Amino acid sequence: DYWPNRGQMDVQGLTVNYTEAGRSVLSDISFSVEGGQSVGLLGRTGSGKSTLLSALLRLSSTDGEISIDGVSWSSVSLQTWRKAFGVVPQKVFILTGTFRMNLDPHGRYSDESCGGWPRRGNEEVGLKSVIEQFPDKLDFQLVDGGSVLSNGHKQLLCLARSILSKARILLLDEPSAYLDPITLQVLRKTLKQSFYSCTVILSEHRVEPLLECQRFLMIEGSSIKSYDSIQRL
Ligand code: ATP
Ligand code: MG
Repeated sequence: DYWPNRGQMDVQGLTVNYTEAGRSVLSDISFSVEGGQSVGLLGRTGSGKSTLLSALLRLSSTDGEISIDGVSWSSVSLQTWRKAFGVVPQKVFILTGTFRMNLDPHGRYSDESCGGWPRRGNEEVGLKSVIEQFPDKLDFQLVDGGSVLSNGHKQLLCLARSILSKARILLLDEPSAYLDPITLQVLRKTLKQSFYSCTVILSEHRVEPLLECQRFLMIEGSSIKSYDSIQRL
């Protein structure tokens, strides 16, 4: 129950190829992230930021070694591994089902627990007023990948789900692309309040949304460089 505890991550010799013949998108990259650290992930369009995040989740076929708090990804089930992560993808696909099911897929919360869980997660990310516009509110059925929601609202839903699942490691893939400046402020506040002790990897094209990160990883030409301060980029 207590893994992961710090959210310290070691990546060794990671290589990702999408096709057997093609070049590697990421080639033999290694880095470590301290538990509780916020890391900015930078790189141009097509450099492999989303590829790296999906490799961390074991979504793509990948060579190399990844461990979290000393536990190798080859020694635990996929389900256990993925439970360590909260994810806000670049393009969100919402599962067919209610808001409730999407926010709390494992049915961990009753409406009374935690002083009303929907309030806690949703109020914090500003989703409460969105959900209340739908008939049946939390029990409204989402279909077609959640097409009634904007991509930004879908990202907020993922964020609320990550708060509720108490993920130790949060992966955010270009949230600034779909969120307006006010919603981005909400995201920043949420990162500070609900994820302050979590490991966060935040992918962006530009440096500006990463100002509060403590470390930076830059993907360039299928390899990765690590920087301790933004001035060194
Ligand atoms: P962006 O900033 O536009 O989101 P990115 O840094 O996230 O880009 P990726 O989406 O990881 O980049 O893509 C890296 C490379 O891998 C690109 O050349 C892309 O064409 C290729 N690629 C990504 N997904 C696939 C896939 N499913 N099959 C084949 N090639 C892929
Ligand atoms: Mg991407």
